[in-house]
Amino acid sequence: MATQSNLPRRSFLQRLSALGAGLSSIPLVGSAGIDWYQAEHSRIYTLMTNPSGLEQPTRKLGVALVGLGGYSKTRLAPALQQTQHCRLSGIVTGTPAKATEWMQQYNIPRTNVYDYKTFDRIADNKDIDVVYVVLPNSMHAEYVIRAAQAGKHVICEKPMAITEKECQQMIDACKKANVQLAIGYRLHYEPFTREVMRFGQEKVFGPVKFIESSDAFRIGDPTQWRMKKELAGGGPLMDVGIYAVQGTRYVTGEEPMSVTAQFGPKTEPEKFKDVEETLFWQFQFPSGAVSNSTTSYTAGVERLYASCEKGWFELSPAFGYGPLKGRTSKGPIDLPHTNHQALHMDGVCKDLLDGKKLPDHITGEEGKRDVRLLQAIYRAAETGNKVKLA
Ligand code: NAD
Repeated sequence: MATQSNLPRRSFLQRLSALGAGLSSIPLVGSAGIDWYQAEHSRIYTLMTNPSGLEQPTRKLGVALVGLGGYSKTRLAPALQQTQHCRLSGIVTGTPAKATEWMQQYNIPRTNVYDYKTFDRIADNKDIDVVYVVLPNSMHAEYVIRAAQAGKHVICEKPMAITEKECQQMIDACKKANVQLAIGYRLHYEPFTREVMRFGQEKVFGPVKFIESSDAFRIGDPTQWRMKKELAGGGPLMDVGIYAVQGTRYVTGEEPMSVTAQFGPKTEPEKFKDVEETLFWQFQFPSGAVSNSTTSYTAGVERLYASCEKGWFELSPAFGYGPLKGRTSKGPIDLPHTNHQALHMDGVCKDLLDGKKLPDHITGEEGKRDVRLLQAIYRAAETGNKVKLA
């Protein structure tokens, strides 16, 4: 019994011990990034067991955060104090009081502070290598394109944009400027998530048959941009439903062939005038796997469950900042809790420093795949028809 429940941890440690020999092979959504994953897990393990054994990087990339709202303030800026391969070097804000506060708190020189009018002058700033766009969804496209035109690599928060067409324009602008574009898919660098990617894609519990994948929460302030279609592109689907979409894709390693979807009732019609309150959708995958998902701004759920031919596995919570928790039909998943944002930014910046192409599963192409699916889910719910995707 003890052996069974320890299996996932043992396999994790066995993979770690195999790192030096380069023996481990962990499949990813997309094609590249395995080297980084192995090295990063080795780093986490060293950090946990022998912190003084960490190699000190010779250079850190300078990151400028664009938009100093909740996510920048409570997650990204603190994470940038822990990163090995990047540091907070600049800010872009329309609020002078925030500029003063951040300059003091993070020792940012005035020369590295911009507003939305002076933004393009970032082109002349050698202290800023990467621009991280953390604005309301409908503003992502404009600032990613302007950052690319300024010759900077870009990280853009999810959802990448509000239409597939905008995603393509962002990809094209980065290609033209010869800079790389990453999406804020922090979970792609997170150990529990990596483990369920492996379970599903390597068929560790046999072929995946059903997936339940849901992400929802009760929203507060009804006046915020998330409740305005023009700024958010939609409701909870654009905000957190995208995690449930991602969950089904990275567990199967497949792209859905079709989608059906249904809007839930508006139980608070005054509040939800502009965006949906609740949405349900179902994907069919080429292997025969099917998924059922919920997103909502009315009550919480955060779960990724896969039923397979020879067992099951689950993360719950699955998509938040952690600690995430996992179980399988063979016992608990025992992995370290990590700082998702630090891992993500370090992963991206290490590749940039090494002059490597970013792995496909973190790029604008991946962001565009998700936005295409979000649009298809809305179309299916609006028409009541099954929307074919393949
Ligand atoms: P927020 O409302 O806390 O902050 C938004 C920021 O944008 C504020 O600083 C605001 O001043 C600025 N802004 C500029 N123009 C604006 C306008 N016209 N209307 C409203 N705000 C404007 O939002 P947030 O939670 O920080 O989200 C920002 C982005 O980050 C979103 O795309 C969101 O999806 C993403 N996000 C990602 C995660 C994650 O886990 N990856 C978590 C939270 C948010």
